[in-house]
Amino acid sequence: MTLDSLSRDQLDAFLAEQQQAYADLQQAGLKLDITRGKPSSDQLDLSEGLLTTPVEDHVSGGVDVRNYGGGTGLAELRAIFAELLGVPVDQLVAGNNASLSMMHDSIVFAMLHGTPGGSPWKDGPVKFLCPSPGYDRHFAICEHLGIEMIPVAMLEDGPDMAAVREHVTDPAVKGIWIVPTYANPTGAVVSEQVAAELASLDTAAGDFRIFWDNAYAVHDLTDQHVKSADIVGLCSAAGHPDRPLMFASTSKITLAGSGVSFLAGSPDNIAWYLSHTAVRTIGPDKVNQLRHARFLGSPQGVLDLMARHREILAPKFEAVLRILSERLGPHEVATWTTPKGGYFVSLDVVDGTASRVVQLAKEAGISLTPAGASFPYGKDPRDRNIRIAPSFPPMAELTQAMEGLATCVLLAAAEKAVSA
Ligand code: PMP
Repeated sequence: MTLDSLSRDQLDAFLAEQQQAYADLQQAGLKLDITRGKPSSDQLDLSEGLLTTPVEDHVSGGVDVRNYGGGTGLAELRAIFAELLGVPVDQLVAGNNASLSMMHDSIVFAMLHGTPGGSPWKDGPVKFLCPSPGYDRHFAICEHLGIEMIPVAMLEDGPDMAAVREHVTDPAVKGIWIVPTYANPTGAVVSEQVAAELASLDTAAGDFRIFWDNAYAVHDLTDQHVKSADIVGLCSAAGHPDRPLMFASTSKITLAGSGVSFLAGSPDNIAWYLSHTAVRTIGPDKVNQLRHARFLGSPQGVLDLMARHREILAPKFEAVLRILSERLGPHEVATWTTPKGGYFVSLDVVDGTASRVVQLAKEAGISLTPAGASFPYGKDPRDRNIRIAPSFPPMAELTQAMEGLATCVLLAAAEKAVSA
């Protein structure tokens, strides 16, 4: 029964029922955490072989991987990921363990030195379009560097292009964050059409950049592989070859803390990026790159490994969706995404109650990502969004946490309905 259809007495009874359920939850003395999208140890075990992959011959393509140098990264590994990411291998750089660092550095380079042929961004106001809900660490980079964030809605096929079109008439708008495939946290996939429109947009800033963070390019939760739009090709065809910077990594393919990151873009952007990183480092960790190339073997090797991740992850997502639908569905107090890949489920509870839900959960021993985290400045204008990360906890803990979360959502909704 929906809360709207209840009489006052029925609503009071419903609230009392939820308060009792919550008191029982607190009694259970839980200590659970569904905050961050980390791989579980079962998933990390899939790449145990990476630690023992023989690399003692230490040579790849004539390069002694133990030494300094090779800023572009090992060709052997780049060849595997160029195919998976759909970019030319000579337009792909392999770096160290975090694509987030590449994103951060690219923005810092643009701020301090400008993009190829452009003036330093820091010389004027800098604004970024932030499809929301989105990835909190993208927003943290902007906040940290004093970049003003403009939220635009993240829809099922990508950012709200009407809003994007309007904002890019401002020359201070220098960039947009996009997680094109299985977006964090909604799971949305940017359609070909939206990608083509982003590629051909008329922007007031000639040095406008699309930060195309393809962190979940091969992270399908079903056996249907969803191919990301070819943003590098689309932008090139539209006459804006330097517009996209594509990022990816093996963080959620092999070892989250010890993977390899990638950056792809136009030849000018790659030369620009390497000219700055050459000052920052005398070369990436090529031993780890060689280990990855040998352990993964081929693009198919990567897809085979991802199928094994899916075997672990898909049942967890199914459990999350089942509990949401069983516990919350009948009361119509929430909506949620049904992602076909990636690492998150995005839950929208009754407007104005997300912070209360997170607080209730915390007081019952269940850690959730702070309400609003998926929005610029941590401010969800409707205070309704909660990001659920099913990957890390073992199944039993995940289902306990989800049952507890459902209780908190219902209690917060009942409190709000009674006070209305
Ligand atoms: N981008 C997105 C969208 C992510 O969700 C994550 C991890 N949570 C990252 C980047 C981080 O990637 P990396 O480990 O390569 O820094």
